[in-house]
Amino acid sequence: MFSNIKDQKKAINSLKQLISAGKEAQSYLFYGPRGVGKLTTAFEFAKAVNCPNQNDYDGCDKCSSCIKIDHLTHPDIDFVFPTPKFDVTYEGEYKKENEQAQVQNFIKQLKSTPFNRYKFSKATSIQIDTIRRLERKILFKPAEGKNHIIIIAEADEMTRQAANAFLKTLEEPPYYAIIILTTTKFSSLLPTIISRCQKVRFNSIAPEVIEKHLIEGYNVDEAQAKIISRISNGDMAKAILMSKEQQIETREMALDFVDFIMNKDFEGIHNFSDNFVQNRNEELLRDIFDFLILWFGDLLYLSSNPSRIVNIDQKEKLQNFNQIRQLSNKEIQEIILLIEQSKNLLAGHINFELIVIDTFYHIYNRVYSV
Ligand SMILES: [Zn+2]
Repeated sequence: MFSNIKDQKKAINSLKQLISAGKEAQSYLFYGPRGVGKLTTAFEFAKAVNCPNQNDYDGCDKCSSCIKIDHLTHPDIDFVFPTPKFDVTYEGEYKKENEQAQVQNFIKQLKSTPFNRYKFSKATSIQIDTIRRLERKILFKPAEGKNHIIIIAEADEMTRQAANAFLKTLEEPPYYAIIILTTTKFSSLLPTIISRCQKVRFNSIAPEVIEKHLIEGYNVDEAQAKIISRISNGDMAKAILMSKEQQIETREMALDFVDFIMNKDFEGIHNFSDNFVQNRNEELLRDIFDFLILWFGDLLYLSSNPSRIVNIDQKEKLQNFNQIRQLSNKEIQEIILLIEQSKNLLAGHINFELIVIDTFYHIYNRVYSV
């Protein structure tokens, strides 16, 4: 049911209004940031329009139609997503066992942990063959439900050929067809595709909503939930993933680094940097940067707005830090900016070693204004 989706009232209300007014569009484009529920909403929408027990323009989650859609076994729902170029028959059967297994793994993971996408080993796209197959299938009237529904996840990954081929279907879909495209990269889609769709915008999720969901839905403790909700940038999927992975350890690492600074422990800083240079773990480094940004942000709040402190369990340490070296707001902001810039550089594949050493030593130098 739509109520499973967090903090997307506007998008869902506009969809419900369309259903209630009998004005369902035939083609939709769900767009917005990653991890906010676009694909989940697409499936909920498919359930709602095909559910015989539709209530308040929502699916019932109990009838065979809803259950089949949940299990991705409904004959009238075609779900397409980017994959590597696999060997497929005219009908869409996978010729190679290991390729079929990869697709099954993707679907399995999508159903069990929708926030954590299975990663294919090779580059992915939506190929023209897949689109051609959809075009043939959509000509069949729905076998069980009212509508034949096509859901294309990450539609921006359609190859140019595939996108061009798909335009024809978007232009004149059969009366029973509903097409839903999802994308995080609105501007990567062909304008001609965008213009043929009813656009539904999804927003990033408020930190408070993420925090509550982590506590209630995933048993994350309050302090942890508060931190994760602030660094996940409105991305529920990322937040859930972070609460499951070794983020506690990562935060401990960042706090160790804070200790090195407080103790003027050069050897500690050296070993810490060296470790990254050796391992080249970009993702971990990015997370460490995020935690450090939060730490210095908390220093800003310490006197001005303590209720906004994220590292609430580290108040004493924050105060100690402040006593060792009382930084002005401007100095703190400069340090945050420095770390932000390093994060951006990381995305640009610039010399990894240089970023590591530069950032960690610069933070130290800024703190002590060397
Ligand atoms: Zn139902």
